[in-house]
Amino acid sequence: MKIAVLALQGAFIEHERMLARLGISSFEIRRRQDLEESFDGLIIPGGESTVMGKLLRELCLFEPIRAKILAGLPVFGTCAGLILLARRVANDERLNFAVMDITARRNAYGRQLGSFNTRADFAGLREIPMVFIRAPYIESAGEKAQVLAEVQGRIVAARQNNLLVTAFHPELSDDFTVHQYFSDMVAGGLCPRVEGLE
Ligand code: GLN
Repeated sequence: MKIAVLALQGAFIEHERMLARLGISSFEIRRRQDLEESFDGLIIPGGESTVMGKLLRELCLFEPIRAKILAGLPVFGTCAGLILLARRVANDERLNFAVMDITARRNAYGRQLGSFNTRADFAGLREIPMVFIRAPYIESAGEKAQVLAEVQGRIVAARQNNLLVTAFHPELSDDFTVHQYFSDMVAGGLCPRVEGLE
C-alpha cells in the first residue's frame, strides 16, 4: 500500500511520520509529475485552505486530483483538508474539491477557543485525543455522510464512501486510530465513487 501526502503547505510531515510508524509507505505530491506515480490513497493535511486551494490550481494539480477523488480514490482530509473537500463552506464562498456532502464552517471555534485539545469517541472504536487548531467543524452532514465523531455537540469527523475528514489533527497526537481507520479504507480497495457528483 502506498499513500500520497499533499505536501504544498501545512502539516504534511506529521502525516508521513504517522504512516511510517504504521509501516505504510508514503510519498509527497508537490507538482504535477508526482501524480505519475501510482498510489492507493491520498492525505490532504491541515494548513490554510485558501493557500492550498490557490497552490493546487497554480501547480495544475487541482483538476487531476479532483478527477481521481471522483473516480473513488480514498482521501483523508484533516482540518484545512476537510474544508477543501466540503461541498459547502458556510462562511466562505470559495469552493475547492467540493465533493463531500457536508457544510463546513471555517475557524468555527472563534479566536479565543481556536485551539484546544480534548478527547472523544471516534467511530465507536475508542476515545482518542483530538487536537484542534483554528479548526472548522461540520455544521451539517448530508444523508450520505456518516458522522464518526462529535465534540461539544458539533460534528468533527465524518465519512462518505471514499472520503474521510476530521476537523482535528490526529497526526499531532500519538494515537494511530484514525490513520489505521484510513488505511483500512484504503486496503478495502477502490471505494465506491462519489455518487451524484460530476
Ligand atoms: N483555519 C484553517 C483554514 O481555514 C484551517 C486550520 C488548520 O488546518 N489547522 O483553512
